[in-house]
Amino acid sequence: MKTLTELHFDNRFARLGDAFSTAVEPQPLADPRLVVVSEAALALLDLNPAEVEQPLFTELFSGHKIWSTAEPRAMVYSGHQFGSYNPQLGDGRGLLLGEVVNAAGERWDLHLKGAGKTPYSRMGDGRAVLRSSIREFLASEHLHALGIPSSRALCVTSSATPVYRERQERGAMLLRLAPSHVRFGHFEFFYYTRQHAELKQLFDHVIAAHFPALGEHPQPYLALFREVLERTAALVARWQAYGFCHGVMNTDNMSILGITFDFGPYAFLDDFDARFVCNHSDDGGRYSFENQVPIAHWNLAALAQTLTPFVEVQRLRETMELFLPLYEAEWLDLMRRRLGFTQAEAEDDRLTRRLLQLMQDSTVDYTRFFRELGDRPAAQAVQRLREDFIDLAGFDAWAADYCARSARENATPDSRQARMHAVNPKYILRNYLAQQAIEAAEQGDYGPVRELHAVLSRPFDEQPGMQRYAERPPEWGKHLEISCSS
Ligand code: AMP
Ligand code: MG
Repeated sequence: MKTLTELHFDNRFARLGDAFSTAVEPQPLADPRLVVVSEAALALLDLNPAEVEQPLFTELFSGHKIWSTAEPRAMVYSGHQFGSYNPQLGDGRGLLLGEVVNAAGERWDLHLKGAGKTPYSRMGDGRAVLRSSIREFLASEHLHALGIPSSRALCVTSSATPVYRERQERGAMLLRLAPSHVRFGHFEFFYYTRQHAELKQLFDHVIAAHFPALGEHPQPYLALFREVLERTAALVARWQAYGFCHGVMNTDNMSILGITFDFGPYAFLDDFDARFVCNHSDDGGRYSFENQVPIAHWNLAALAQTLTPFVEVQRLRETMELFLPLYEAEWLDLMRRRLGFTQAEAEDDRLTRRLLQLMQDSTVDYTRFFRELGDRPAAQAVQRLREDFIDLAGFDAWAADYCARSARENATPDSRQARMHAVNPKYILRNYLAQQAIEAAEQGDYGPVRELHAVLSRPFDEQPGMQRYAERPPEWGKHLEISCSS
C-alpha cells in the first residue's frame, strides 16, 4: 500500500496538448475539513487508509497542495443541452489533476470538482457546494456497489469559503475517479469547429488508451462506436431496472466509457413512476425516467454525427439500429433476475410489464417491492405485498401467473431467497436520506453522511441496526425538489 506522495502519475490526456485542455491551478478552499472518504476508492489507488489522517490528505483534496507530477488541466468540450447545441462548455469548475497508475497497471483520472475558475467557467464561479458534492459522492459509490457502472468518488472536503446559489452555501470539493473523463461532447466540440485532425487524434487516443483491442479492427472508429453503443445500452438497462433517474442526460454528461457520469439532480425512484422527472428545472420532462432510453439513443446519434468524416453514414445507421434490441434484451435479463427467474420464458416480458403497470397505478415502492418479493416462500411474500395494490383483482391475476412461473424454476425457498436478495437491494439512496445527511453536514456533523455511505456501500446485505435506512420515505421525502444549481 502506498502513501499519498508515492502515487505514480502518467498524464496521457495532458500530453494531447493545448488543443484539448488548458493548464490551470486549483484555487484552495478556506479552512478545509474532510467530510467523507470512500475506502473502496482509496484501494483503487493502492492508498493506505491511514493516509486519511495526514493533514496532507485534506490539503491535496481541497486545492492547497498538488503533486509535483500532477498536471492540472481544464478540458474543452461542448454538447447538446436539453436538445440544443451549446458550442462552448468545458471544465468550468473541475480540473483533471492527472492520471494515476496503480500497482495492477489500472489507470485512474483524478478530477477535482469545485477547484475554481477556468477558461470555460463562462458566468460561473468555478465552485461546487457541499450539498451537490455529497450527492455526487454518495451516488457514485452506491451505484458501483449496486453493480451499475459509474465514475467513482474518493472524498469530499467542505470549507468556510462562501458560495452563492439560491442562498449562501459552503464551498466544497469532490475528488472524482474515472478511467477516462472523455464525454460525447468532447467529440462534438472538434466536429462542430471543423478541427478534423484533432477529432481524429481524440478518437485515436480513446481507442489506444481505453479500447486497445479495437485498434486491430479493420474499421476501428466504427468498432468504437458500436462498443460505446453497447455499453450505453447496457448502462441504461441497469438504470431502468434499478430505478435510477440521471436527471441531465445532456451529451456533455455522457461518458465515452458508458459509465454513469456527472451527477446533478438525480434520483432513485421511491414509488414506481415511469413518468417521474427528478430535475425540478426540466419543465418539459425531456429527461423523465422512461425517456432515458430514447434519449440515450438520441445522444448516440449525436456522437455518430461526429464520426461522419471517417465512417460511412450507412454503417453508422445500421449500428444505431442495434440499440433498442440490445437495450431490451439487457433490461429483460435484469428484470428476470429481479423476479427470481434463471431461465427465459416467452411470457416474461409481458409478466414484467404487467407488474410495472400495476405498481404505477398503485404508487408502490419500487425497491421494497422487489426485496420483499424475494422473501420465502413466494406465495406468502406475494400475499403480504398484495396490501399495497389498489387493483386487487389485477394484482391477484398477476400473482397467480407469477407464482406458477416461479414454481417452474424448481428452486428451494432458501435458494430462491438468497438469489433474489443478491440482486434486489435492501438499501437504496433515497433523496430524503441524502437530504438528512446533507443538512447535518452543513452544520458540521459528518457522522450521518459517513454512516449513510457505509450502509449504501453494501446495499444487498442485511445490516443489523440500520433498518431505518430501509423504510418507506416520509411523505415530504417523496417530493423534494432538486434543482440543477450545484
Ligand atoms: P453540469 O450541469 O455540472 O454538467 O455543468 C454544465 C457546464 O457548466 C459544464 O461546462 C460545467 O463545467 C459548467 N458549470 C457548472 N457549474 C459551474 C460553476 N459553478 N462555475 C463554472 N462552471 C460551471
Ligand atoms: Mg456536466
